[in-house]
Amino acid sequence: MWYINVPLVSSTNEESVISISNEKDKFHDGLLVSEFDEASCISRFQSHLYRKVSHHKPSRYLISKVRNYEELHRRCGPNTIAYNKSMAYIENSKSNNGDGTMCKYIVWSPTNGLGNRIISMAATFLYAILTNRVLLVRFGKDISGLFCEPFLNSTWMLPNNSPFWKQDHIETYDSFLEKGRSKTNKTKEDLPSALFLYHQYTKEDPENFFHCDHTQDLLRDIPLLIMQTDQYFVPSLSMITSFNLEINKMFPEKDTIFYHLGHYLFHPSNAAWGLITRFYKTYLAKAVERIGLQIRVFDPQVTTQKEIMDLVLSCTIKNKILPKLDTQNSLSYSKNHTLKAVLVASLYPEYGQNLRAMYLNKPSVSGELIGVYQPSHEKQQKFHDNMHDMKAWTEMYLLSLSDVLITSSFSTFGYVAQGLGGLKPWLLVRPHMKKPNSPSCEQDLSSEPCFHFAPMHQCNGMPQKHFASSFPHLLQCKDFNRGLKLVSDSALL
Ligand code: GDP
Repeated sequence: MWYINVPLVSSTNEESVISISNEKDKFHDGLLVSEFDEASCISRFQSHLYRKVSHHKPSRYLISKVRNYEELHRRCGPNTIAYNKSMAYIENSKSNNGDGTMCKYIVWSPTNGLGNRIISMAATFLYAILTNRVLLVRFGKDISGLFCEPFLNSTWMLPNNSPFWKQDHIETYDSFLEKGRSKTNKTKEDLPSALFLYHQYTKEDPENFFHCDHTQDLLRDIPLLIMQTDQYFVPSLSMITSFNLEINKMFPEKDTIFYHLGHYLFHPSNAAWGLITRFYKTYLAKAVERIGLQIRVFDPQVTTQKEIMDLVLSCTIKNKILPKLDTQNSLSYSKNHTLKAVLVASLYPEYGQNLRAMYLNKPSVSGELIGVYQPSHEKQQKFHDNMHDMKAWTEMYLLSLSDVLITSSFSTFGYVAQGLGGLKPWLLVRPHMKKPNSPSCEQDLSSEPCFHFAPMHQCNGMPQKHFASSFPHLLQCKDFNRGLKLVSDSALL
């Protein structure tokens, strides 16, 4: 995955390691513009110092698409004449007479945890690029202050005075589709000027046909979409004929979509960057290898801590990620005393405590020293709590700086870490699904997040169990068989 294996930020002076990477790495090989004010977002200028040089280079086409998008955002984003005119039109007209607006928008509306939010924002940004819409986000107090502004001289925040903080007054996608079915000759005047699209899993889970050309043809002329989503729906976008051509040109390597979009959009704010870099320099920088271990327990009622610890140990020891303990000796006679650091991310303190105690109480057979560090243990997922989300963001980012990553199946928290790190994680199986002699973990095929609730129907309404047979770069997710994920050519060999 990486070109070179060098110790990163071994000194506390960031500038001293600049020689390892260069200006090209700094700006993600041209994906990022250099004109931002450094003090307002230090991570944008320093994050390359904490990552190894990546093979994944953005294509020239992606760079040109992003530059065009930035131009659109500058022209149509908040506080511009075009924004004021377009929004006034959208607000005041019930239907869409077609030529009253100069700009089109997509407003991303959050739901569920931070991992879900980040992966769905990345997907919505790609959709915005593909449809020439301006992306605006509805950040509540819980996630404001986590990220820097991504677009130069503009903002992606939906202005506080916008009527589109609520959607109760606008048409929903379901009723829109329903109307569409009952009317054969649709004209532009039939289209609303704003539409609320609910793109997340629900118990009823009706097919929404978002992945179909005919739906996108209808949505194209609606000036404002509000998308409430927690999903990484990029695989759906790749099923749409015109988008597929563009995605292929933008991302010749199909497993780097989140990697590039994530590095473009999600720069830790100065507050988050301070937490990340202090932790990194204090506990991780000196290790020869950094191992990220994310333990997400989805069913604490039916899973014991011991079951999870057993899974973790069996996965890490069997795959030689961590050394076995030397239970015969109290001292190591090996000359190898290299330090490996394990970063544990979990809501529960016991996992970090147990692992740390294990490697402090006994030597390892290899002689390696294993430092175990867990930044937080929040005990439960909390909502509307800014510091809680800040910790979650810090940990996802720190995990993404690992050399080897172990994550929990089905967790979008882990997906963000693997996606930003460009890492193929070892996926721990869900304990209740483990069969007696089956492996405790399996390495993933790609660093792309899994789209959990992928479509179940073809566009003609016929059921389709899995789309992998029709779309070569889409495979069933290893950690959730209803899901689909994008993989590179090499994963298909
Ligand atoms: P998912 O539910 O695993 O798909 O991940 P999400 O990030 O969408 O939602 C889980 C939320 O629970 C996180 O955003 C955090 O708020 C919290 N959480 C879960 N695991 C951890 C953890 O290891 N560390 C921290 N700090 N928070 C966690």
